[in-house]
Amino acid sequence: MPTSQYIDFSAFMATRFDGKMQKLTVNAGFSCPNRDGTIGRGGCTYCNNKSFSPAYCQSSDSITDQLIKGKAFFGKKYPSMRYLAYFQSYTNTHGEVSRLLSLYDEALSVDGVDGLIIGTRPDCMPDELLKRLGEMATDKYIMVEYGAESSHDDTLNLINRCHTWQQTSDAVRRTASAGIDVGLHLIMGLPGETDEMMFETIDAVNAIPVNIIKIHQLQLIRGTRMAMDVANGAYDIRRFTVNEYIALCCKIISRLRDDIAIERFVSQSPDELLIYPRWGLKNYQFTNLLHSRLKTQQAQEEDHT
Ligand code: SF4
Repeated sequence: MPTSQYIDFSAFMATRFDGKMQKLTVNAGFSCPNRDGTIGRGGCTYCNNKSFSPAYCQSSDSITDQLIKGKAFFGKKYPSMRYLAYFQSYTNTHGEVSRLLSLYDEALSVDGVDGLIIGTRPDCMPDELLKRLGEMATDKYIMVEYGAESSHDDTLNLINRCHTWQQTSDAVRRTASAGIDVGLHLIMGLPGETDEMMFETIDAVNAIPVNIIKIHQLQLIRGTRMAMDVANGAYDIRRFTVNEYIALCCKIISRLRDDIAIERFVSQSPDELLIYPRWGLKNYQFTNLLHSRLKTQQAQEEDHT
């Protein structure tokens, strides 16, 4: 059930490629500078990295093997599919530039892989690496996806992100200037944030050269510092119903700059790790509900004109 009210990931990719593109997640065995002491210790309070690696990517397999397994998985249904290697887990620009480049080159040398999406932190993009990525982007597709989470530094402090919004906006501007597409990851419902604060984050995103965003509801995950804080009563988190979260997403869509695509609205951690929210909806089911709401709203607006 497509909607014309925002640009989704497929529509965005159609502006960059002719055929159908599938992301293949690779786990290159990186660590995180907010865990290993380079920038901080303990990590972001909501993070349990086990919650975001699909089963087909084990860091004990080479990048090539992971991509071949991923292609076998998706290629059965769509033999003509082309791929983007998605360096997702942890901080995929945290390391020696020469080592990083050899991992990226390995991914790009796999048959059928036409580009890279590199997930990282905004404080972990040295100029030297950005320059090399900009050179690669002249003949391969490159997107850098930064974890921004919020534009509010107080929130970023509370969740121990160990970077500021200023660092995010600098990284976004430098990356766009290098000729590379920029994605941002944002979390809705972080502790202490009101709807107005979340909209201010969207306004801040609108002011910088971002191509695509991913948003998701805050998930309370077992084994995290945040789960402990909430259990101990240090603070609580925002408890959206599905309907409330859909209403928030509709407002975000209407507030977001028209040319910024939205790749997703919800995240789904493994059931055994998830404490809250337990909406019992798959991502596509949530998106269908959202699209129905958008259509209803549009019909009501047309009735009033
Ligand atoms: S969310 Fe990212 S930056 Fe934060 S601790 Fe987890 S891997 Fe590190």
